[in-house]
Amino acid sequence: MNQHAPVAKADVRVGYSACPHDCPSTCALDVEILAPDRIGRIYGARDNSYTAGVVCAKVARYADRVHHPDRLLKPLVRAGGKGEGVWKEASWEAALDLVAEKFDAAEAKYGSETVWPYFYAGTMGLVQRDGIERLRHAKKYSGFFGSICTNLAWTGYVMGTGSLRGSDPREMAKSDCVVIWGTNAVVTQVNVMTHAIRARRERGAKIVAIDIYENATVKQADMGLVLKPGTDGALACAVMHVLFRDGLADWPYLEKYTDDPKGLEAHLSDKTPEWASAITGLSVGEIEAFANLVGTTKRTFFRLGYGFSRQRNGPVNMHAALSIAAVTGCWQYEGGGAFNSNSGILNLDTATLEGKRLRDPSIRYLDHSRIGPVLMNHEDALFGGPPVTAMLIQNTNPANVAPEQRLVKRGFLRDDLFTCVHEQFMTDTAKLADVVLPATMFLEHDDIYKGGGNQHVTLGPKVIEPPPGPRTNHFVIEELGRRLGVAHMPGFGLTEREHIDIMLAGRGLSFDTLKAQRWMDLQPPFEEAHFLNGFGHPDGKYRFKPEWVGGFAPNRPPKIMGKAFGPYDRLPQFPDHVDLIEMADAEHPFRLATSPARNFLNSSFTETPVSKEKEVRPSLLIHPDDAARLGIAEDARVEVGNMRGEVVLHAKLFDGLKRGVVIAEGVWPNSAHERGEGINVLIGADAPAPYSGAAVHDSKVWVRAAV
Ligand code: SF4
Repeated sequence: MNQHAPVAKADVRVGYSACPHDCPSTCALDVEILAPDRIGRIYGARDNSYTAGVVCAKVARYADRVHHPDRLLKPLVRAGGKGEGVWKEASWEAALDLVAEKFDAAEAKYGSETVWPYFYAGTMGLVQRDGIERLRHAKKYSGFFGSICTNLAWTGYVMGTGSLRGSDPREMAKSDCVVIWGTNAVVTQVNVMTHAIRARRERGAKIVAIDIYENATVKQADMGLVLKPGTDGALACAVMHVLFRDGLADWPYLEKYTDDPKGLEAHLSDKTPEWASAITGLSVGEIEAFANLVGTTKRTFFRLGYGFSRQRNGPVNMHAALSIAAVTGCWQYEGGGAFNSNSGILNLDTATLEGKRLRDPSIRYLDHSRIGPVLMNHEDALFGGPPVTAMLIQNTNPANVAPEQRLVKRGFLRDDLFTCVHEQFMTDTAKLADVVLPATMFLEHDDIYKGGGNQHVTLGPKVIEPPPGPRTNHFVIEELGRRLGVAHMPGFGLTEREHIDIMLAGRGLSFDTLKAQRWMDLQPPFEEAHFLNGFGHPDGKYRFKPEWVGGFAPNRPPKIMGKAFGPYDRLPQFPDHVDLIEMADAEHPFRLATSPARNFLNSSFTETPVSKEKEVRPSLLIHPDDAARLGIAEDARVEVGNMRGEVVLHAKLFDGLKRGVVIAEGVWPNSAHERGEGINVLIGADAPAPYSGAAVHDSKVWVRAAV
């Protein structure tokens, strides 16, 4: 982490912005501006009550990224075979004309749904990320169901609370016990640690970290619980069993605020610590100690992370972990309760930006996580519609990060698919494109950002000039709109600032007024955030008995094409452990997780020299006893594989995980791997129950010494 230090030099101007990366913290930033087109160091804003002067080290050294010599500067048009790397430079006019011509030709042949605009979280700025929706609605192109990062976790959370919000995350500093469950906060959102450590320093609070390996957060915790992947539900059930058994359940709270506490108690009667120990790999003593701690500490704050989104049974596990807070009644206390995301409170009027009034509800959505099956024309992925034959991809890198990479790559190599990628670097996806357009970075354009992990909406005005060449996402959408004949439609023809003015008008603000105050704090009152006025379901009760299919209303399109997926009939009536995961078997005796690396953020920062140097090379954490059994030594080349493919990594012997579990940290570029294929070759692209997602920590694999 990088603590704020005063900007020392009197001649260095400071610009204000927000971190645009795919991280719940959305830090408010102080940016040293050394010249009209040059930045120095970046610091966390000290007067933002969530950022509190701290940002991660990779963003502190952002100058390495924004001034990187390998940035894309010119539009490129493919001049050889797909993926061969032969390009010719083009003018912006010519490149955009070509894209529009190809989109029109594809539409003429197959209808409008053959074009699939694809985007996600490469920038979290609303204008630059979501303006692509305006083009897609205006043209009736296929919809994008963004499912990779959040869907499995949000589904489980909303099943319990009925609403995507929770206790103010700044209250962690007022807690007596902070449970950091399913997120390596030291690596992926440093601000959680800022507030948790403050509670420990000032109040003697205990920090508990629950994860699948002894990562940097577990190492900093007072109590670290390392369990087998996909078994969080069993731990949660045993904890609640102990709470009922030992008289630590808050019955007055349960009777007032929950749907069926007696049914839950009866259901948990055989979910003993011994039962959970056999499933999780934790000792009975660890489970009892954790249950006793949260049962006797009223101000316990459950910070539930996106690790729950990485397993096929993630919704069940998230709901089970969340249910502990309802049994202890810790929601009633400042510094208590639970939190995953505040996305349900950060509402701005994005109808104009996204062209929502142009939306045709009959147009299909395609699943972001299933791009491999979509591009390979799997019928179930296309929902009976035409093949995808044209794509515009902005700031995301599916040829590196999406599941089942071999399908994805084969799909992009199809001769009948035209792909335009608008990006900052020559990513693995850009390499497979027909047209590559250079994109600006966040400091080079105007935007506005919502902090899902906190409660702020922060302005990110342009603070430096881009190098000659790159253009904003907004520019590309507007120019394609003009060429494709929809520029007269509502929402087109406005500047970034005008869009931000419209989004803020309902809150009595504008671009200029928000610029003066930098951010707005949308934290709801205590009673609302802690659900003391009732939970989000119609009866106001927390649901121990979720309605997994039907009646589900989260803050996003709830279902793709109105359907539930996967074996949703196996989702349990009450919190439980369900083995809806890719279980190890004789042929695949290991379970693989692809956890985040400290110096990368998904596939971003893999291009910066310091990040690369610190991460060294693609590696596999393996227990020393497993390694010894397989004859694998430290640093040895190992092959990891399953029915989807195989990749070569280097072994790192590590006893901070369970036997039978292996972990590959970070998404390295495909070219960093021996055979040019990255770790996501091994990940499944099936749609987990009930509403899809990407189970990137949920693969069975074999491991052997590479020959
Ligand atoms: S990546 Fe996360 S922790 Fe780092 S600066 Fe951005 S929002 Fe903050």
